[in-house]
Amino acid sequence: MKSLPRVVKHPKIKNPVESLANTRHEFGEHGGVNMSIEASTTFTAMHPDVLADMFHGEKGPDKGGCYLYGRHFNPTVYNLSRQLAALEGTEAAYCTASGMAAIAGTLFGLCDTGDHIVSSNTVYGGTYALLHDFLPAKAGITTTLVDINDLAAVEAAITPRTRAIYTESIANPTLRVADMPALAEIAHRHGLKLVVDNTFSPLILSPKQLGADIVVHSMTKFIGGASDHIAGAICADKDFILDLMDLHTGALMLLGPTMDPQVAFNINLRIAHLPLRMAEHGRRAQLFAERLRDLGLAVNYPGLQDHPDHELISELHCADYGYGGILTLDLGTEDLANQLMDMLQNDYRFGYMAVSLGYFDTLMSCSGSTTSSEMTEEDKAAAHISPGLVRLSVGFTGTAEQRWRQLHSSLQRLGLVEQTAGEPSSTRKAS
Ligand code: PLP
Repeated sequence: MKSLPRVVKHPKIKNPVESLANTRHEFGEHGGVNMSIEASTTFTAMHPDVLADMFHGEKGPDKGGCYLYGRHFNPTVYNLSRQLAALEGTEAAYCTASGMAAIAGTLFGLCDTGDHIVSSNTVYGGTYALLHDFLPAKAGITTTLVDINDLAAVEAAITPRTRAIYTESIANPTLRVADMPALAEIAHRHGLKLVVDNTFSPLILSPKQLGADIVVHSMTKFIGGASDHIAGAICADKDFILDLMDLHTGALMLLGPTMDPQVAFNINLRIAHLPLRMAEHGRRAQLFAERLRDLGLAVNYPGLQDHPDHELISELHCADYGYGGILTLDLGTEDLANQLMDMLQNDYRFGYMAVSLGYFDTLMSCSGSTTSSEMTEEDKAAAHISPGLVRLSVGFTGTAEQRWRQLHSSLQRLGLVEQTAGEPSSTRKAS
């Protein structure tokens, strides 16, 4: 099906860092520059009526009540949620125990049995399995997977029971960029919500400013930045978040994917340097992508002019943070991909063979057999996820030139690029 012409222009993007800087700073209990960690799971009501009023929704921590119970609301987690709302420019946010909890909570909040979702066919494997297998089997919520860049196909897939259009801002691992203003226009014309997973592009893309209604994150990745916490967030308007938190009916209250306050505290301390990290991830990924392209390799990166969505993302992104920290290199076969990753990790210490992304060091994985292994072979082929596709989450340790030398030497030793005169192919260099 042919794509509809884009008719929607994006608004002037405001750098989210300005909203973050305007967020209330929470001091510690004793005046510490960092907030205190509230470890209690339950909170004392100072008057006997307060608890009953809170259960009836008449009072809350911000409306004459108090905090109630940790699964509902914790002050430390709430503080991180306020930062996430500022980051994404939404009225409110709720932090969850994982990115999958944020996605599942959102979809349960939007859909009842018999409802339907139109989703991009290139999403993280866990999301694919949730939409393709789990939700239809367990909840009778079905999904039509479409090429999200084919706007006519997106619109054609909408049924009277559709409740949401779901996409990743930059898709895992194809790196296709969603045309959020155009998708929002379609969604809103049909009375649907546009849900965007912005895990790959915090600060780079601001889905809410581009028309999305709900933004979800796996904070396990770039936002956490150190691969030491599993965490997620839902950023949306206040009514949606309050519905999810409703003590008697809310998806988050009843499914219980609560973030631990210690985790919230730790992630809170990384938000301040997220802009610096995103800019450097992007700078290095752009450098490597350009050099790999110049060597004639099959590299895919939204910052390259020949990327199918380069023009689109150049129009939508906040240029201060570049085009993201992820690139892919297609080596044709899984065997060659494995040889390259093995050499890069074990001979050069260029990075690590590990799933996930957004770590300060480079992480490498073969998407087809790992994070997209839930997809059927047909769906992988349709999404161009070949067995030799290596996803690189480009880190920022070491110097960029040192890391490039390691990558280049590995490619030479595998015969994927020409030898440079005077460099023996068998040199095994550790950084
Ligand atoms: N969304 C994307 C784009 C991901 O890549 C992942 C995990 O890799 C998730 C969501 C799930 O996040 P989590 O592992 O924090 O549940």
